Amino acid sequence: MTGNWFIHAAYLAVAVVFILGLKAMASPATARKGIVWAGYAMVAAVVVTLFWPGMENRFLIVLGILVGGIPAWRSGKSVAMTDMPQMVAIYNGMGGGAAAAIAAVEFARGEVHGTAITIMAVLGSLIGSVAFSGSCVAWAKLSGKMRKAYRFPSQQTLNIVLAIIVGWLGLGIIVDGDAWAIAILLFFVASLALGVVLTTPIGGADMPVVISLLNAFTGLAVGFEGYVLGIPALIVAGIVVGASGTLLTLLMAKAMNRPIKNVLFTPLTGEASEGGEAIEGQMQETSALDTAATMRYAAKVIIVPGYGMAVAGAQHKVWEMAQLLEEAGVEVAFAIHPVAGRMPGHMNVLLAEAGVPYDKIFDLEEINSDFAQADVALVIGANDVVNPIARTDKSSPIYGMPILNVDQARNVVVVKRGKGTGYSGVENALFYRDNCRMLYGSAQEAIADVIQHVKSMEG
Ligand code: NDP
Repeated sequence: MTGNWFIHAAYLAVAVVFILGLKAMASPATARKGIVWAGYAMVAAVVVTLFWPGMENRFLIVLGILVGGIPAWRSGKSVAMTDMPQMVAIYNGMGGGAAAAIAAVEFARGEVHGTAITIMAVLGSLIGSVAFSGSCVAWAKLSGKMRKAYRFPSQQTLNIVLAIIVGWLGLGIIVDGDAWAIAILLFFVASLALGVVLTTPIGGADMPVVISLLNAFTGLAVGFEGYVLGIPALIVAGIVVGASGTLLTLLMAKAMNRPIKNVLFTPLTGEASEGGEAIEGQMQETSALDTAATMRYAAKVIIVPGYGMAVAGAQHKVWEMAQLLEEAGVEVAFAIHPVAGRMPGHMNVLLAEAGVPYDKIFDLEEINSDFAQADVALVIGANDVVNPIARTDKSSPIYGMPILNVDQARNVVVVKRGKGTGYSGVENALFYRDNCRMLYGSAQEAIADVIQHVKSMEG
């Protein structure tokens, strides 16, 4: 009893630290601290659980933790910043899969009793399985192993039929307290298949929203299973992840102007449909010297970082350049699109890591009206998030996504390696505008060249 009391008190403390950690994550200044707190709390929860009265198989549990933990620790340490989204996707999937596996074991042991507990176990299994298989598909897409958004023939019908089968089997398990093993097995198989068919057709700019949604699913699944097992720390952790994931999903869907129901049921394929808007004009090249001069003698420069800056790891050079410009009296600001890069907050993390102060970093709504007063908009490895087609071309896969209004700046310089399209595969009308010049080169080297020229103009 004393042991139990201690364990429950520890779980409560852990739950409080999870919430404080999440609160700290709300600001880039304290986010790292928040993650570390939540990590320590999770370790404490696991250690305390080993002392649960009647706990057996401690050796196997520790072995399992080592088998999963060591590769996760190593991959977490070595992962490139640009590969983070697929890592988040797969580890998130593992969370959903673990929740579903716990429920499967409880069903197999015949330990799920009572209507309320069975409902929770069934919901946790369903949502956890969908999160697991859906996240595996998301991982394959983000890591480039699955290059297209596949649609099955009669996709909507298939989705509906599978959802009905899953619902029917789930209901059967709830109503018949002693359901057949085969029905439970079929229920898991159908739930996993549902995750696959829901995620495979989704592509292009919708992927970030889907990852966030699957993350919320994992949280909910863990919360339900926490209820089944009677572990409050799991319930709180699951609900915190579920609620914050749901909020993030809604915010991202809003940022992309895509209602969740459209993301899931009328997905973007990443391919433009026939009859899109014709793009007129020609791309015009510029040099590092001209770029340096245009910015050095400007009053206001807005820098727009994107995925290409992350791939090139150019954030330190970009900040060095920005500081030089500021020393020369130029006002410099950074504009961040909510889905720039390959994961939410990608650009904020990189710029913060390079030392850019938070008061120079602005979100889309804060800065979009300032482009019209900017002398230069310097776009570094960003593409989709500055494509004006999103405003006008209804046939485009990115139509309706709010974009940064860089085309309204007096001069636009785009740093990129060549004529490659962005993530969505759509041609960018900005690059053909009269006020736009292309500075070809990898971001790191191109910005280093610009820095040399700015320095040579000092004094
Ligand atoms: P994009 O992927 O649209 O464009 C990146 C550009 O960077 C490319 O056009 C590429 O052109 C250029 N580039 C690549 N490597 C380099 C390099 N070394 N140096 C310079 N440039 C380089 O990026 P955005 O950030 O504009 O848009 C993000 C896109 O990713 C959106 O469609 C978004 O929906 C999607 N997405 C976002 C996620 C998120 O959560 N933020 C998650 C998953 C997808 P070139 O090859 O010619 O160099």
